[in-house]
Amino acid sequence: MKKCLLVTRHKSLVTVFKMRFRNPEKRKNDFKEVSLGLTERQAVKEAGRCLQCKKPHCVAGCPVEIDIPKFISFVKEKDYLGGLRKIREFNMLPAICGRVCPQENQCQGQCILGKKKRPVSIGALERFVADYELTSEKTEIPEIIPPNGHKAAVIGSGPAGLTVAADLAKLGYDITVFEALHEPGGVLTYGIPEFRLPKKIIRKEIEFVKNLGVKIVLNWVVGRTQTVEELFKDGFKAMFIGVGAGSPKYLGIPGENLNNVYFASEFLTRVNLMKAHKFPVYDTPVKKARSVAVIGGGNVAMDSARTALRLGAEKVYIVYRRTEHELPSRHEEVENAKEEGIEFLFLSNPKEIIGDDKAYVKELRCDKMVLCEPDASGRRRPECSGEEFTLDVDQVIMAIGQTSNPILVRSIGGLNLWGEGYIKVDHDGRTNLKGIFAGGDITTGAATVISAMGAGKRAARAIDDYIMGRTVGAIHELPLQ
Ligand code: FAD
Ligand code: SF4
Repeated sequence: MKKCLLVTRHKSLVTVFKMRFRNPEKRKNDFKEVSLGLTERQAVKEAGRCLQCKKPHCVAGCPVEIDIPKFISFVKEKDYLGGLRKIREFNMLPAICGRVCPQENQCQGQCILGKKKRPVSIGALERFVADYELTSEKTEIPEIIPPNGHKAAVIGSGPAGLTVAADLAKLGYDITVFEALHEPGGVLTYGIPEFRLPKKIIRKEIEFVKNLGVKIVLNWVVGRTQTVEELFKDGFKAMFIGVGAGSPKYLGIPGENLNNVYFASEFLTRVNLMKAHKFPVYDTPVKKARSVAVIGGGNVAMDSARTALRLGAEKVYIVYRRTEHELPSRHEEVENAKEEGIEFLFLSNPKEIIGDDKAYVKELRCDKMVLCEPDASGRRRPECSGEEFTLDVDQVIMAIGQTSNPILVRSIGGLNLWGEGYIKVDHDGRTNLKGIFAGGDITTGAATVISAMGAGKRAARAIDDYIMGRTVGAIHELPLQ
């Protein structure tokens, strides 16, 4: 077990809190989970640090507004299932959020203790109580309100869709989730790798949602298999669209069409969902490489790089055009990647992928960058320094972001969109079309699990208001008198 220094967003050292991680030399060779969570002793001690503030800022920092002090008080009293019950009043996916939420910017970022010392490790405590249930096998099912006779459809089974489905089922609605892929969970299942979020955890939390009465129909591409109009004709009173932003973005540099250039979403899906790393047992391979360059600096880039390493690459680079300070990935994941031997090339911008005579990747040519004045995003804009360098790589993975998938949105006539095909919604997920609601990445662009879940919660309330006749269920329209 090693000592881990937790670091805040502004990267000041704040603690010598012992988190348990697997040894980097061992873990980089397999897909087993890297972080081992808290021991019971650590959890109770950590819970004891909570000041039980009367006006807790941490709650405001959580997009689904978990009653954090209350759940922590249960942990302090060693009533772990009580703590979990409290969390589940607000959040049906605690084992997932405890692992992947960017807590340092959310609940923990607001913790008053963080101003002078280390904030309470809220995410780790959330994970602890959820894992406790998993190991004790005492799954509890919340009380369900009797059926109210109304059907609603949810399109997409990512965190946004699962949250809407669970919240509406708890209100007595008959909910069907339609999912295009052969496994539910969205990015949780096909994007985030096993070593960060084990599949058995996702399955268990989805099982909990199904136990509320939610039906999940797989291999069902709404917009192709069935249209939204047909779903309305089938008796669904309202529709929630949570189809995410799964289409890849291109850099637009020469060589992107060479063999062995992958887009991160395809690369990760092939490994996570189609088990490419188990080739030839599973027959959807990814080409294993000797030396890999991953372009980008977010969670997707870290996941791709660490996956490539586990597939057997001798060398893996992260190529990022700004500095370490601007990296959008969670700090913990950057630290994990560094420990595993991923090499970071900052202030480096790819300009061409060079192929061999068989059109396979041979090299990556990059510009050296310098940072100038801040751009519209508030981050300092990178500019070419005039110098360049070439990397000897035989695989390139593009992890520069995702955009909206047009299949469904284009099939709905008159739906208002913004930007690169994202759905325009109000604060509660109402679109301009009556009875059609949306939330998560398809409305915001690529964001976070918990922001998608927050959007799902607000939309569930708005759908209930609409079906119960309290509002008209479309953007800019006033509540019914
Ligand atoms: P998604 O999770 O994308 O789910 C959408 C679902 O809709 C998919 O299952 C898709 O198959 C389905 N679908 C699409 N079209 C149709 C259709 N026409 N009919 C039926 N179904 C359809 N966030 C964090 O908070 N922490 C992290 O550590 C983190 N790491 C990430 C790592 C990776 C590799 C990626 C890609 C993202 C990561 N994110 C992380 C972002 C986070 O996962 C997303 O913001 C979140 O999953 C968005 O949820 P969603 O429900 O809007 O969409
Ligand atoms: Fe923090 Fe995420 Fe848990 Fe909310 S769901 S308390 S933001 S870890």
